[in-house]
Amino acid sequence: MGYQVFVYFYNPNIFPQEEYYKRLYAEKTLCSYSNVKLIEGDYNPQEFYSAAKGYENEPEKGKRCDRCFELRLRKTAEFAKEMGINKFTTSIVISPHKNFSRLSEIGENIAQEYGLEYIAIDFKKKDGFLKTNRISKDLNLYRQNYCGCEFSVR
Ligand code: SF4
Repeated sequence: MGYQVFVYFYNPNIFPQEEYYKRLYAEKTLCSYSNVKLIEGDYNPQEFYSAAKGYENEPEKGKRCDRCFELRLRKTAEFAKEMGINKFTTSIVISPHKNFSRLSEIGENIAQEYGLEYIAIDFKKKDGFLKTNRISKDLNLYRQNYCGCEFSVR
């Protein structure tokens, strides 16, 4: 089954601001290459810091990351609802460092709250991760070398 895809770029977790713009530019390049509409959400790092408050020293894959996923997936669900889109998912699952089951659980809970469907597909399977490497090399896209927030830089 085919989908009409919209990319919603909502990443207030990204630190510093220059890194945010590097990633946004890479996303814009990819969307234009794939002929997909990109909508940029607000970039207000305070929204991330409020969500991560009290969990700053958690290790990666810990509670801070759960809160971060929740914030970003909730905003995505709100955006989908506003747009009359009834399914959503996240490209976060492409990372081999992320826990697919945990992300799916968070996504499904949020989807239920908003009366939407969360598409739980592990995009890194079937050589998905290798394909993303190939595309990013072909398009000369910027590759991040840390997850995103200031706590993941250190
Ligand atoms: S390490 Fe990544 S997923 Fe975890 S809080 Fe930071 S940006 Fe979010």
